[in-house]
Amino acid sequence: MKIKKGDQVLIISGKDRGRKGKVLEAFPKESKVLVEGINLRKKHVRPKRSGEKGQIVTLPAPIHVSNVKFVCSKCRKATRVEYKIVGGKKFRICKKCDKET
Ligand SMILES: [Zn+2]
Repeated sequence: MKIKKGDQVLIISGKDRGRKGKVLEAFPKESKVLVEGINLRKKHVRPKRSGEKGQIVTLPAPIHVSNVKFVCSKCRKATRVEYKIVGGKKFRICKKCDKET
């Protein structure tokens, strides 16, 4: 999976299509990512102590990586990346601007 935690992504399908967000968590096994502010779900939170009320909070739910496109941190374009290995180190290169991203 080429998308990592901290990356910016563009949502390309679903109700959040066209929006951008930061990857909060990546789940390579499931090929899913958790994106800030995207695919929000309402969740009931149980009271922590007796006497407190339960709450409804909105939290992002993971979406499949096929629904997002990587956004380059250098040129800010939605793009694809490729890996290059230089001197034993792995670099992720933007296909649009050719810079490390
Ligand atoms: Zn770029």
